[in-house]
Amino acid sequence: MSTETEAERDTSGDDWHTRSVDRVLDDLDTNEDGLTQAAAESRLEEHGKNEIHEGEGVSPVELFVSQFRDVLIYILIFAALLSLAVGFLPGEDPNYVDAGLILLILLGNGIFGFVQDYRAEQAMEKLRELSAPETAVLRDGEKRTVAATRVVPGDIVVIEQGDAIPADARLIEVTNLETMEAPLTGESAGVAKETGALDAATPLAERSNMVYMNTDAVKGHGKAVVVETGMNTEVGGIASRIQEAKEGKTPFQEEVDELGRRIGYGVGALIALVVVVQFLFTEADGIAILLTAVTLAVAAVPEGLPAVVTLTLALGSKKMVEKNALVRRLAVVESLGSVDVILTDKTGTLTENRMTVKRIAFGDDVYQVSGAGLDLEGEFRRDDETVDPETLEPVLRCGAFCNNAERAPDSEDEEYYGDPTEVALLVSAEKAGIKNDAERVREVPFSSERKRMTVVVEAGGDHVAYTKGAPETVLERCDRVLVDGEMRELTDETRRQILERTESFAGDALRVIGFARKAVDDPDADEDSLERGLVFLGLQGMIDPPRAEVDEAVTDCRDAGIRVVMATGDNLETAKAIGEEIGFDPDGAMTGADVEGLSDEELQKAVEDIEVFARVSPDHKVRILEALQANGHRVAMTGDGVNDAPGVRNADVGIAMGIRGTDVTQEASDMVLQDDNFVTIRDAIAEGRGIFDNIRKFVNLLLSANAGEVLTVFAGVLVGSILFPELFAAQSEALILTPVMLLWINLVTDGLPALALGVDPKSPDVLEREPRESNEPVIDTRVLVSILTIGVTLTAVGLVVFFEALATFEELLVAQTLLFTFFVVSEMGIIQVIRRRFGQGLLSNRWLVGAVVTSLILQLLVLYTPIAGLFGVYGIGLSGWVNIVAAVSVVVVGNYLLSMAADRLLGAERSND
Ligand code: ADP
Ligand code: MG
Repeated sequence: MSTETEAERDTSGDDWHTRSVDRVLDDLDTNEDGLTQAAAESRLEEHGKNEIHEGEGVSPVELFVSQFRDVLIYILIFAALLSLAVGFLPGEDPNYVDAGLILLILLGNGIFGFVQDYRAEQAMEKLRELSAPETAVLRDGEKRTVAATRVVPGDIVVIEQGDAIPADARLIEVTNLETMEAPLTGESAGVAKETGALDAATPLAERSNMVYMNTDAVKGHGKAVVVETGMNTEVGGIASRIQEAKEGKTPFQEEVDELGRRIGYGVGALIALVVVVQFLFTEADGIAILLTAVTLAVAAVPEGLPAVVTLTLALGSKKMVEKNALVRRLAVVESLGSVDVILTDKTGTLTENRMTVKRIAFGDDVYQVSGAGLDLEGEFRRDDETVDPETLEPVLRCGAFCNNAERAPDSEDEEYYGDPTEVALLVSAEKAGIKNDAERVREVPFSSERKRMTVVVEAGGDHVAYTKGAPETVLERCDRVLVDGEMRELTDETRRQILERTESFAGDALRVIGFARKAVDDPDADEDSLERGLVFLGLQGMIDPPRAEVDEAVTDCRDAGIRVVMATGDNLETAKAIGEEIGFDPDGAMTGADVEGLSDEELQKAVEDIEVFARVSPDHKVRILEALQANGHRVAMTGDGVNDAPGVRNADVGIAMGIRGTDVTQEASDMVLQDDNFVTIRDAIAEGRGIFDNIRKFVNLLLSANAGEVLTVFAGVLVGSILFPELFAAQSEALILTPVMLLWINLVTDGLPALALGVDPKSPDVLEREPRESNEPVIDTRVLVSILTIGVTLTAVGLVVFFEALATFEELLVAQTLLFTFFVVSEMGIIQVIRRRFGQGLLSNRWLVGAVVTSLILQLLVLYTPIAGLFGVYGIGLSGWVNIVAAVSVVVVGNYLLSMAADRLLGAERSND
């Protein structure tokens, strides 16, 4: 730690690691039972919230200015300047109206874009807050969960494996606690923790009796007293270094940016071409040529597009939260649509994680346990005869003692704290009147790699170790077995019988836990010898019913071309039995050990057909994930424990559990399931696909309009200078459409419906088509064809309207007004042509209906109120409208037919075959 940071910190608090536990508690005026709630609240006032004030983010001003940093905007500003510059030529007035309107509209667009970006930013901020870590502290002598920001010095925090450490704290109690302190020290290995006082000279990285904010508990558990919070913590001192990397743009946003650049170059080339052609082949003067260039530029730029994309993604993520899928990165909304394999946990995701012990194997017999759920009333029966619970005492006691779950003290919503597997064991023991009242002196914690745990308890000076875990991992540690009250040697025959019994329990979809114990002479012996030479006691089998609707969700995913693969730490037979109930194919089901036996290539082959993996550890899950990805799949993977974090981070869509999940995994994830439920994954995928469709729809709409405009202006000027040389060559205002009209079309009459398309309903068959390819752009061939056909038909019909009017009335104003209105009305019909491909009926989106009506009313206002002067239009009469309606019908019907033909040739978005 540098001396500067030391200087900034409260000096009284720089040597916590040198003080004894008692002294620290004393200094902070607290004790092992924690602060009172009242004291904690007043300290919160005094010390402030426990948060790091990161350096200023992007300021609103910067965000606003950034809206104008875009090639397309430069083009428009240049266009505005040009229209002003024209005025300084002899005999011309500056085009104040044009220039003013262009700038006004640019400003409006900038504000709109700013508001969207700002709101999206705020929405993401809120989402991040929703997933902000909570922490367990002791207050008024009880364990409570509080927001990490409300932790104060003197609080006793309870640290479990997988927790993020909320503040700097001095450890007062540890059980195999290890933390990962890379954010602070750069060291990625776990650091073992202890409670003894240390030398003053101990460097930060070696202060093993301290835990620090922004680090994670990766193993074991413990308690610590908070010594520093907020900016006084070690990370607070180096806050600028850990500032969260700002979220970059999503792939679609990048595609849109790239598109903008291309359009920019395209427009440049086109302008050059027009200038050359006009200069060489027509009599147009310089001013006319300049004006044409300005108009072309305005016509080509899809002003509203970036803001509409941002808004749609932000609204989409909001909708997903309503369905319990909390999006942590905006880009996930997009990648969800391309997922083609889901690698999911079983316990808690596919099943309810509400366990009840149903069967017990003890001695030579199997017993049934009655009583549903957490009900404490129940009987033990053997062959339909009630037996004295006392008979099963050893195996029930082991389940109660080797247990970290607790009865919640008169809490209303929760009866128990802790792992449902352990809760079930507490309940089964309670049915025999056995409670966990043991004096625990030591624990070797559970991990998904070891699949067992051991505690050592003391009674009258004697020590007993109790072990429970996956039956085979317990059995491999036993050399004796308890039968009829006596210890016998564990023969191979008995081993086989126990494993057979395990299989038979598991085959009935029960989760099976094995139990063992032994007397211990040296409670401080190393873990290995502690868990050796055990006496096997028996088995308990518990049901964990599949979640409602989960079978349907799995089927839906399959229909959507998404494979669902289960990877669980549970027993193979249990996994197969439950899998079968939900609709998985148990054939070829593999265990983690099988996975280990395969080479990468073999595994790559295997993962293509296997749907159930059992007894896997997080490492196996990562290998399965990598094999799937190597085969070109886009994989969504769920995870809960700390060790799942690497997998969740590397998956294409990493999904963490909101209820069961550890902080560490949530931080590594792209999305958090607030209800831990598999069904939510399906819903999120459907939303993701719907959002992608909508982006495609409005990109198609906006770019079709731009294509039509550019082509019309380009072809129109050329045709005009040839057909009507006197008009087009002599008058510098001789344009097909003026820049103001084009901006109006692009921003208002296209803009509103485009926004509404962003919230178009999902097509009824989003989950019936194949996933999108990962690199499939928004503008694929089908969209490109649509843009071109719409653009060309708009131009062809539009030019007929324009020149027919010009020939009849010999009045540019009339021809321009008709063409302008033709464009606006056509767009409204084109919207429906585009939506047809996604199976949307005319009126299925009320926002869109509203937007279309509004756009049409606005157009009428432009035509028939004094605003007409600004736009240089006149009030169209009946015959004009007849022409427009006829022309629009040709365009809409024509494109409807063309679109159906294109579906035939190129395949539709919908699977209507
Ligand atoms: P999953 O959650 O997919 O079922 P886990 O890795 O959590 O897998 O658990 C794997 C196995 O470890 C379980 O099948 C069970 O046999 C055993 N196990 C689970 N929880 C505990 C626990 N708290 N104590 C001892 N053993 C456990
Ligand atoms: Mg588990």
